[in-house]
Amino acid sequence: MVKLLYQTNSYLNEFPATVVAVDPEQNAVALDCSAFYPGGGGQPNDTGVLVVDREDLAVIRARRDGEHLWHVLDSSATLPESGQPVIGRINWPRRYALMRTHTALHILCGVVWRDYGAQVTGGNMDPLEGRMDFEFATLRADLVGEIEAKCNAEIAASRDVRVKILPRAEAFQIPDLIRTKINLLPEGIQEVRTVEIVGLDLQADGGTHVANTREVGRIRVTDYKSKGAINKRIYIAIE
Ligand SMILES: [Zn+2]
Repeated sequence: MVKLLYQTNSYLNEFPATVVAVDPEQNAVALDCSAFYPGGGGQPNDTGVLVVDREDLAVIRARRDGEHLWHVLDSSATLPESGQPVIGRINWPRRYALMRTHTALHILCGVVWRDYGAQVTGGNMDPLEGRMDFEFATLRADLVGEIEAKCNAEIAASRDVRVKILPRAEAFQIPDLIRTKINLLPEGIQEVRTVEIVGLDLQADGGTHVANTREVGRIRVTDYKSKGAINKRIYIAIE
């Protein structure tokens, strides 16, 4: 099973690894460990390079498949062989932008739940922009402005963001996690990774986050729209 380095250190952007499998059909390489985020939970996968014999091979996509994390190489790259040592290096400006964006979306979730009691129903992100859907009956411009100001107050409060990996039974005892539908996790998953914005938000989450809310910068609500009677979408940009 591949060791997922980003799960415990989201700031790791370069790492040594060994090729454990290759897939010529996809032009992809699986490593024994990786800091590449394979995508999921609304956060896109990382891109970057694998350095093999001092040559940079572009990683255009990363993807999780069972025990492997596949690094799909640019079609011009020659595949390394199983057993070969490599250095992985992720596209850090892109990843760091996604970390800031992901934490910003959790701040938004936390504020909307704490102050308006509205649950999240979905979300998605690109570097420095994202959207979230909430169970909101009405959403007006003044309310949206208020939400934006409250999110930026949480950034200014410099709240720490803590990641933990808990045994399933322990995670299932935490009321905040039950609210976020942790009970939908498949039976086979024995450990639950949690991301806590201390004093604001706690979720089961597999993504990469900044260590403190102040790193997010500034959140601007760029748009909002109705997606149904009780479903409202909020769009944000990170500055
Ligand atoms: Zn998340």
